[in-house]
Amino acid sequence: MVDLYSQHLKIKTEIEEAINNCILNSSFIGGEQVNLLNENLASFLGINNVMSCANGTDALQLAIMALNLPKDAEIIVPNFTFVAPAEVVALLGYKPIFADVSETTYNISPESILENISSKTKAIVVVHLFGQSADMKGILEIAEKHHLWVIEDVAQSLGAQFIDIDNKPRYAGTLGHIGTTSFFPTKNLGAMGDGGAVFCNDDAIASKIKILANHGSIVKYNYQEIGINSRLDNLQAAILNVKFKYFSSYIEQRKAVAQRYNSILASANNKNIVLPQHNNSSPHTYNQYTIQIPFRDQIKNHLFEHNIPSMIYYPSTLSSHHAYNKYKTSATPNAEYLSKHVLSLPMHPELDEEQIAFICKNLLLGLEIFSK
Ligand SMILES: *Cc1c(COP(=O)(O)O)cnc(C)c1O
Repeated sequence: MVDLYSQHLKIKTEIEEAINNCILNSSFIGGEQVNLLNENLASFLGINNVMSCANGTDALQLAIMALNLPKDAEIIVPNFTFVAPAEVVALLGYKPIFADVSETTYNISPESILENISSKTKAIVVVHLFGQSADMKGILEIAEKHHLWVIEDVAQSLGAQFIDIDNKPRYAGTLGHIGTTSFFPTKNLGAMGDGGAVFCNDDAIASKIKILANHGSIVKYNYQEIGINSRLDNLQAAILNVKFKYFSSYIEQRKAVAQRYNSILASANNKNIVLPQHNNSSPHTYNQYTIQIPFRDQIKNHLFEHNIPSMIYYPSTLSSHHAYNKYKTSATPNAEYLSKHVLSLPMHPELDEEQIAFICKNLLLGLEIFSK
């Protein structure tokens, strides 16, 4: 699905030098590389505060903790996504309310958010799925009207933009109140281990998050809040600072790979394949290249038999799981439909034309076989 080793070989010397420097300085927790990464991201995103932390799930947890919501608060999350948003909401004792997603972008839909708002709703966690921004214009209008906090999870879409009505492009994760991301190795900006970050423009929220991530303390052994321990290693930050130099070019390479997939699959002229949708207000950065296809499970096996990996993100709705089926859910037909039809193909900057052609050839062959 990804080829992290090929990517590494191209920057091996720089990475080794960065790691060696950390060892020479023996600064492992905190340190200048962590500060530099926070600054790099802040200036890239055009946001006032970036606080790196241990992983993307912690980033979401810190964001929600910082809001000090009442105990009976309901928080709207998408029903078609990775578990983290629902997990942290429930873990903190709040109620996740599962909303449906758009059938074209797979992102949480403003209409479904609206349907799920009650007097207890306090926040929305927007996940920008697969590399594409959700409809932030629609979502922010609703949030403003109903006085809701908006947390944006850009773990899969760091570097994706949302272009609003004024034609002003802004980075996903910087439009709501708090943005969160992950540096899990397979994300668009990936470390060699775990990592994450929270970002926001509001200085008061930022300092609260810093305190919460540091055992609730700003002055050593003085605890203002009940916090957690969530920090990014200096080593991981050093690795990320090297990769950050190539971050924009990695995204361009992902777009080129997607275009290649698109043109081969579109030329097959098979109406049964639904390609990733392009949307002028939210250009795709392709953390995943996800199609819809009939005979999905058979085709996945067929690809596997030809040594081609593929993945199902996500094979079921969150609300269908034992851990979450006790929470209230409106009907989420798109989330259900997508969980049965989506298939993600290999996607990474190093994927070459020959590999893409081979994947497409076998995919189309599989479709032909099972359509008979
Ligand atoms: C990867 C991911 C996370 C969690 O990140 P970790 O660093 O693995 O904790 C959260 N949300 C989404 C949408 C993700 O894809």
